Amino acid sequence: MKLDIVTIFPRMVEIVRHEGIVARALESGLVDLATHDLRDFTADRHRVVDDVPYGGGPGMVLKPEPLFRAVETIRRTRGEPSAIVLMSPQGQRFDHAAARRLARLPHVVVLCGRYEGVDERVREHLATEELSIGDYVLTGGELPALVVLDAVIRLRPGAVGDAQSIEHDSFVRGLLDHPHYTRPPRLDGLGVPEVLQSGNHGAIRRWRTREALRRTIERRPELLASVQLDDEERELLRELIEEQEEGATTHVEHH
Ligand code: SAH
Repeated sequence: MKLDIVTIFPRMVEIVRHEGIVARALESGLVDLATHDLRDFTADRHRVVDDVPYGGGPGMVLKPEPLFRAVETIRRTRGEPSAIVLMSPQGQRFDHAAARRLARLPHVVVLCGRYEGVDERVREHLATEELSIGDYVLTGGELPALVVLDAVIRLRPGAVGDAQSIEHDSFVRGLLDHPHYTRPPRLDGLGVPEVLQSGNHGAIRRWRTREALRRTIERRPELLASVQLDDEERELLRELIEEQEEGATTHVEHH
């Protein structure tokens, strides 16, 4: 997969080459990341990327020509992209489904805005889609681009060592993940659920399914509407709901 990121701060993006799963995926060639300094696509001596807004008002706007030229160069040197994503708080909300969709594409270009944003013609005639990472405004599209890059890369086959570890992640099936524990078995009197130490794989799997369902009902009940549950899960869900209704749920919180 090819990923091209266009930014006025390439160093902010390049940090992903140094640490963790993403760095390994890039090093192994699983994903071919290229960052492009928007200033390299300016035509003037001062390499100016922004200009004052038409109509007046505060702030600056990213000029359109360098962005168009950057994408033109990417087309020529890296091939025709499958998607040109403009990071924008006004875009569609980035979620697991969007990450999965992008992870299947062979070539994605990401454009990072700055200042008041980018000239509208970039949105209309250059970008193929706009993505937002949430309802808040950041100073630039670099952190959002990194969020997208990270979520997409970890879904690429081979990026995460144990593919199974992804399957249970929150949102993959539409349920939140179950709780996780590691050693020590007692931490100043705080224990680990017996069943996890029982070695009984059936019981462990059932406990995890139950706790994933419990988390989901408690925190994100709306997610349940779009999950296909199997027979066992439906039964566990029924039990959990009954428990809740009886008020029998003694909120087991592990502080
Ligand atoms: N005036 C714009 C915000 C500009 S913020 C507005 O109100 O819509 C500057 C740049 O940061 C944006 O062009 C975008 O690329 C990026 N950005 C800021 N918040 C973002 C978010 N929540 N998701 C994705 N990109 C964001």
